[in-house]
Amino acid sequence: MRMFLKGKTALVTGSTSGIGLAIARALAGKGANVVLNGFGDPDEIERTRAALEQAGGQALYSAADLTKSEAIEAMMAEAAEEFGGVDILVNNAGTQHVAPVDEFPPEKWDLIIALNLSAVFHTTRLALPHMKAKGWGRVINTASAHSLVASPNKAPYVASKHGVAGFTKAAALETAQAGVTVNCISPGYVWTSLVENQIPDTMKARGLTREQVMNDVLLAAQPTKKFVTVDQVAALALFLCRDEASAITGANLSMDGGWTAA
Ligand code: NAD
Repeated sequence: MRMFLKGKTALVTGSTSGIGLAIARALAGKGANVVLNGFGDPDEIERTRAALEQAGGQALYSAADLTKSEAIEAMMAEAAEEFGGVDILVNNAGTQHVAPVDEFPPEKWDLIIALNLSAVFHTTRLALPHMKAKGWGRVINTASAHSLVASPNKAPYVASKHGVAGFTKAAALETAQAGVTVNCISPGYVWTSLVENQIPDTMKARGLTREQVMNDVLLAAQPTKKFVTVDQVAALALFLCRDEASAITGANLSMDGGWTAA
């Protein structure tokens, strides 16, 4: 099983940081060619890309802004030209904005739905023909505990992630006999720089200590009182690529420290 993804190509959206980067590293570590995507410092991205190539496969970077369907089409065409097609599609890019519904900026709604939900449709519709033709494929969507439950002030995010869970089920039924599996992973709070950066502001705004923000605010709904790690999410994504996981399709796999069990 050491390099079991040798010869396969994985496209991981939003892989310049956080969960996506950990998934890209895990897949490259098993020999896959990787298409990186996301925003960030060009030098840092180039270092990441080069480091992935050290792992065995080839690595390509696409700066596509996934809120634009033409950019997605260009990214998928580039991946097809370079590698012949995408065998493993990880739809991971996502964004958040927090406000009550009646104060939510409409342009933020459009952005969240475009990136978190519509981009998943566009990449998947463009990746499936190659997967079906090969009789093998994996689509792995990073959803969220918010694909199953809601929190106030996150209506567009919750709507988008519930949408991803529904899309996952429908696409899984359509591809069930084609050797293609379609699943989503639904993490609770994952320890990423995105989460870490919220701590100082919340400490200041609410007059709390770092520990209070972590336990009573961020981890309030997470029974384990521990953050999920990016490597735990990546390990599950990697497992879904194995042949042993070929019967798992249409699933919404929670990794939330018990959040949605409550
Ligand atoms: P992150 O901010 O570290 O990563 C987001 C990635 O998306 C980055 O690479 C960023 O450059 C990219 N991105 C942003 N806008 C983009 C655009 N328009 N086009 C292309 N790429 C774009 O965040 P993360 O925590 O790693 O989140 C990754 C996914 O996990 C998201 O879908 C998020 O909703 C989901 N998630 C995160 C958590 C958490 O607690 N961190 C929990 C549940 C689900």
